[in-house]
Amino acid sequence: MNKPILAVIIPCYNEELCIERTVKTLFEVLNTLIEKDKINPDSYLYLVDDGSSDSTWEIIKKLHSENKLVKAQKFIRNYGNQKALLAGLEAVREIGCDCVISIDADLQQDEWSIEKFIDEYSKGFDIVSGIRNDRKTDTLFKKTTALLFYKIMNLLGVKIPVNHSDYRLISSRALELMAQYHENSLFLRGFFHELGLKTAYVHFDVKQRFAGKSKFSLVKLIELSLSGITSFSIVPLRIITVLGFLMALFGFVVGVESVIEKIFYNNSPNGMTTTIILLCVFGGIQLFCVGIIGEYVGQVYREVKARPRYIKEAELK
Ligand code: UDP
Ligand code: MG
Repeated sequence: MNKPILAVIIPCYNEELCIERTVKTLFEVLNTLIEKDKINPDSYLYLVDDGSSDSTWEIIKKLHSENKLVKAQKFIRNYGNQKALLAGLEAVREIGCDCVISIDADLQQDEWSIEKFIDEYSKGFDIVSGIRNDRKTDTLFKKTTALLFYKIMNLLGVKIPVNHSDYRLISSRALELMAQYHENSLFLRGFFHELGLKTAYVHFDVKQRFAGKSKFSLVKLIELSLSGITSFSIVPLRIITVLGFLMALFGFVVGVESVIEKIFYNNSPNGMTTTIILLCVFGGIQLFCVGIIGEYVGQVYREVKARPRYIKEAELK
């Protein structure tokens, strides 16, 4: 059997300090796998510059001129790491490959685990998901919020494994299926698990970022989680319905009770405090629920406009 052509996608946002070393290290990994006869020598890297404002793109151009197995594209502005991954997947599908792995530009994920991904792929798995062994390198805040996110997602019925990251291999078959999904904000972590293809897991170690700072701001993380939830689960909307029903029931019972008191015992209920508390609590719950519905309306709004997912400024093939 012919050895598979592997494409490695690397999203880069202001990674001038990392990118050269990352590319060099990844070629070491690819060459080792080629020597071991596990992948095809035509295997390549695909970098997506997510609208960097530093010299990332200049470095990528230089790397491409030295080696045509470094392919790349640049976005016109910063669209975020999910869009960069998506663009990479669409591009390698066009260029051609048998399987594709995505990995971060800072090589925090152990790059030598790529061999394990390939081994699983060779056994016939279409999706191989990377699972972090631990979160030693994350701050306590990120650790807690990330865990909370996975727990909520699982409660809402989106079965993504805890500590799954965007370090994953997918086969060309999964790529073809992905092409049939035209959603604007495709949440990749949820998407590939929902497809139902044969999935394997590889556990890997996380290292410190070797240069530069994290490119994920708190706002970006919140946006990613909200889009993950609203594009994969409508359970929050159902919870609102049930909550609304229970509240109405409660109101009805309390109402009947006070009418009875008034008529039979001539006892008008007093209780300003109770009224104020109930007003605030229910007012708050209602606003919160309107907010949740608003998130979904926003999601529909974005999808309905069907704007391009991203705009390419340049491409190196
Ligand atoms: N990234 C991106 N666009 C963004 C933010 C991040 O393409 O708007 C890339 C970044 O260059 C890196 C990967 O996504 O390759 C993960 O980002 P980072 O390492 O900063 O996140 P962390 O490891 O702190 O979660
Ligand atoms: Mg990182």
